[in-house]
Amino acid sequence: MKLAGVELRLIGMPLVAPFRTSFGTETTREVLLLRAVTGEAEGWGECVAMSDPLYSSEYVHAAADVLTRFLIPAVAALPELDGNAVGPALAKFKGHRMAKAALETAVLDAELRAQGRSMARELGAVRDRVPCGVSVGIMDSIGELLDAVGGYLDAGYLRIKLKIEPGWDVEPVRAVRERFGDDVLLQVDANTAYTVADARHLAGLDPFDLLLIEQPLDEEDVLGHAELAKVLRTPVCLDESITSARSAADAIRLGACRIVNIKPGRVGGYLEARRIHDVCAANGVPVWAGGMLETGIGRAANVALAALPGFTVPGDTSASDRYYRTDITEPFVLDDGHLAVPPGPGIGVTPDPAELDKVTSKVDWLPA
Ligand SMILES: [Mg+2]
Repeated sequence: MKLAGVELRLIGMPLVAPFRTSFGTETTREVLLLRAVTGEAEGWGECVAMSDPLYSSEYVHAAADVLTRFLIPAVAALPELDGNAVGPALAKFKGHRMAKAALETAVLDAELRAQGRSMARELGAVRDRVPCGVSVGIMDSIGELLDAVGGYLDAGYLRIKLKIEPGWDVEPVRAVRERFGDDVLLQVDANTAYTVADARHLAGLDPFDLLLIEQPLDEEDVLGHAELAKVLRTPVCLDESITSARSAADAIRLGACRIVNIKPGRVGGYLEARRIHDVCAANGVPVWAGGMLETGIGRAANVALAALPGFTVPGDTSASDRYYRTDITEPFVLDDGHLAVPPGPGIGVTPDPAELDKVTSKVDWLPA
């Protein structure tokens, strides 16, 4: 397979409602999409970097720049294009994992479509549908939060995750437990908003029988998480800190987490995501699929990954309408709290050209 070129497309997707986390509020999701064109097939990749470097150091325009200057030329220079060769070809460039993941996914998708094989099959999926949770942003009031949670439970979501930050943690959790009961699968995500000095305060979440507390401390504070894990009864889960299979192995060895959130963009792609899954499975550590407000393109691949055997807790693989009124692909629709794993070749979905054009702000074609 030979690369003819890669299209970089910037789109802006209006969110159905503002999404607030401890690092900021989003109203429109700016997304960089990649289309890898080969003689045999085209493949799609979605870069999960956000507009601003607040969740991680990457951001949309930096991703477009590094792809244009370095990553795409390195892949174009490969004598034989192959999804498994992309990671090694890009390894000499430091960081930029979200940009690398998007490029690897686009190449892998093209390759799998050419071969008529699905991403789920390629990754080792063992299920044809995955249980879904939903991530609920920080709200202006408890009443507003309870309305939102009630709506998601009515829609059939099997697990609720509350975003928390100092000043919005124990009380919202208590309110959700009081209103909806102890049987609701409930967890919280702090997106690095606390320090180890908050350990006693965070232990105030222990009586609520949460599945986990996600990334309470800074992404580099792995030892801090290990200290915190000794104090909390609630299991600590890492998100931002886990950037590779090696960092996952280290965090588990240090006792910094009992559960891992896997986001392929954060770790450089689906192949590294699978290696993290394998490391965690070997250590008896459950994993679940995180979300980055993906369109149908990124969601399709995430659902395929979430069908691997080690994904034993519901992920943030929500339905398309959790974030977008109209998706750019066929929408992912919740069925009995589950999403179906796309069975078709590659990621199994294709963007609708008309819908794509409506949200596109910029297109660049980079010939190989
Ligand atoms: Mg998180």
